[in-house]
Amino acid sequence: MHIYKVGGAVRDRLLGRPVSDVDWLVVGATVEDMHAQGFRPVGADFPVFIHPKTGEEYALARTERKSGRGYGGFTFHASPEVTLEEDLIRRDLTINAMAEDAQGNLLDPYNGKADLENRILRHVSPAFAEDPLRVLRVARFAARYAPLGFNVADDTLALMRQLSVSGELQALTAERAWKEIERALMESQPQVFIEVLRDCGALHELMPELDGSSQALAPLRQAAEHDQSLPVRWACLMLAIHDTTQINAVNQRFKAPRDCQELAGLVGDCLPLADRARELEPSALLALLQKFDVYRRPQRFEEFIAACQMAAFARGARSYAQADYLRGAASKARGVDVKPLVARGLTGQALGEALKAERLHVLAQHKATASCV
Ligand code: ATP
Ligand code: MG
Repeated sequence: MHIYKVGGAVRDRLLGRPVSDVDWLVVGATVEDMHAQGFRPVGADFPVFIHPKTGEEYALARTERKSGRGYGGFTFHASPEVTLEEDLIRRDLTINAMAEDAQGNLLDPYNGKADLENRILRHVSPAFAEDPLRVLRVARFAARYAPLGFNVADDTLALMRQLSVSGELQALTAERAWKEIERALMESQPQVFIEVLRDCGALHELMPELDGSSQALAPLRQAAEHDQSLPVRWACLMLAIHDTTQINAVNQRFKAPRDCQELAGLVGDCLPLADRARELEPSALLALLQKFDVYRRPQRFEEFIAACQMAAFARGARSYAQADYLRGAASKARGVDVKPLVARGLTGQALGEALKAERLHVLAQHKATASCV
């Protein structure tokens, strides 16, 4: 039995980047050998095991054949006869298809190291076309390594284009696609993910509603530069869609998490109001705060402000005075105490109206103060 370190750990060590998780490959072993060594299988019919002490993943060398449409359409063949080269050839990119033995020697049958040095994302073999998820993976790696100067090889982009026009991307489940989208959005240059998808025709298949021009992607770019959260980045991306109904359609297509869906919808609807915040009458400002439920959901309003600010930066603004104004308004409205009103004997509708009047009063003061400075 031979054990190799494979995949991202080998790649990132060569790049001098931190290695987060290590994947291991076992050549020349049977399922029984693994059980005998104390490894636990991750699933009934998948040749991957968990190390009893480190908890890391050890996969038996395998070959793969496409047997149908979509992700389910794969048959695996794991056996002690499968060689290292046969296992590595089924992988997506040459830079992901390198292995390292126990002595630290690099095994690199598909020239991943040269591609790494030349900053090229290149598919390993024509079998690349068998899994449409790889289109998203390549775009994600392009977003991650863009700061290092990586580009997608022309013939790989051509394969991605073929996969896109063939309609195969439609076979991806929402869950698999979202996992890639989410990870790509958290990379340092997430706009590159969208640009690569655009350039190979995948964007047209996955999110035809979205304007993939660099101008439309500028808010997302700002969001990444300012280390914003996933919901803010998603909302900023959705600003490249100009219609709220279409934003909702995209949200649902990928089953985006609730916080992402909500924020994208709210930003799509309310950004123009935020931009005019200082001109809004107290009643309009209060309506905005109520819509966000700033009393119970202060964090969501913060994220809304952040997204509006990123959009302003994307238009070339140096600062966004509305941010502090909106924050101040929310905190004033939240600060209105209901207890004195209750103490005055108010209940039900009368209490609601008194509370609203009090909040309008503090917002009017807030507006007056802000216009003095
Ligand atoms: P990350 O740093 O994002 O974890 P990684 O390269 O380790 O990057 P994983 O998703 O952990 O990516 O997968 C481990 C390895 O398995 C990859 O390096 C690649 O060789 C292979 N791999 C994973 N998914 C696919 C796929 N859909 N098609 C082909 N090869 C894949
Ligand atoms: Mg990994």
